[in-house]
Amino acid sequence: MQSGTTKDRSKMRAVKLVAPHRMEIQDVPIPEPQADEVLVKIAGAGLCHSDLHVLHMGDEWPFFGGTVGHEGAGWVERMGASVEGFAIGDAVLVSVIYSCGQCRPCREGRDNACAVAGSRMQFPTTPGLGPDGAMAEYMVVKAANLDKLGDLDPVSAAPLADAGVTPMHAINSARHRLTATSTVVVTGLGGLGHLGLQILKATTGVRIIAVDSDQSKLDMAARLGADMTILSDRQAATKILAATDEYGADVVFDFVGVQPTVDLALAVVAPEGCIRFVGLGGGQFTYTADSNGPIPWGVSIQRSYGGVRADQLEVISLAQRNLLHVETVTYPLDDFQRAFDDLEAGRVAGRAILVP
Ligand code: NAD
Ligand code: ZN
Ligand code: ZN
Repeated sequence: MQSGTTKDRSKMRAVKLVAPHRMEIQDVPIPEPQADEVLVKIAGAGLCHSDLHVLHMGDEWPFFGGTVGHEGAGWVERMGASVEGFAIGDAVLVSVIYSCGQCRPCREGRDNACAVAGSRMQFPTTPGLGPDGAMAEYMVVKAANLDKLGDLDPVSAAPLADAGVTPMHAINSARHRLTATSTVVVTGLGGLGHLGLQILKATTGVRIIAVDSDQSKLDMAARLGADMTILSDRQAATKILAATDEYGADVVFDFVGVQPTVDLALAVVAPEGCIRFVGLGGGQFTYTADSNGPIPWGVSIQRSYGGVRADQLEVISLAQRNLLHVETVTYPLDDFQRAFDDLEAGRVAGRAILVP
């Protein structure tokens, strides 16, 4: 293993998931862009909690050997012959979903449900979770999967691709319940949650209750404008119901998805309310189709996945106008293991980013 910039100009460093629970940094060839592709010089690659889920998935993971990282941004280094609309040096964000752009869902603007890049039960193709991702010095991306960042710093903008887009998508799906009289619970103020909170502040007039098991994350949430912060414990539901005259919260965004947070969402959602389950922590619930159902009448529950290009344009626009700020902790690419250890231990405030 080599640290620092590689001397061989045809090689680069890349973080690979090589076996269950094991990542390593390797020297690999710099990829060559095809006609419709761009070689992106990576500025920053965000660490998502989903990377930890994949790391610990065991033998079931089908993509060992691939470069990790589905939150990438950088600069256009080189372009294939048919690429138009980009210039060398442009700052760009890599879409988290490599949708086809042509199928029925894509043409309907639902590209996170692309029928070609994904299937009924399989999420669409995502860089770093199949195709080589962003935790490397370079990556090749079809020009169609890039959006320009303008003057935004591509290091701190990298997490917008997922930690920004995914909450934006969940929020957009519940807009009808996000009125200025609504109370909204945001559970989990990590990478996704701290941006979800800011998106709510910037685009709605709702009252926000932030819930986390870590007091330091709640302190950050208060700084970012949460109206109320509640520690995630056995009293959380009682406190939320008390804060809403026992009526409940109009929308719950669960960016954790463990059993206590799933239970909390069901225990506090108001009639006609929305629950958006984003976190993949393995919590469960049972629905019974009878008149005593476990949730109030009219509640809509969505298993929210990623986001669409329109969501991506929105988060870029908010960030460009200083309405969305990614709290970052940066690490050199070679220190990837320390970054993942910090994320796993809950030591990251905001988003950890690897910088090649
Ligand atoms: P993160 O590690 O940055 O943040 C998690 C937050 O949850 C932390 O603030 C932590 O303190 C808090 N937390 C942990 N246990 C809690 C509990 N019992 N009650 C309340 N808060 C608790 O994680 P992230 O990168 O923001 O990802 C969040 C989740 O979303 C992960 O499960 C990830 O896999 C998932 N995810 C889903 C999608 C999707 O498309 N559905 C996309 C990206 C990430
Ligand atoms: Zn992710
Ligand atoms: Zn498609």
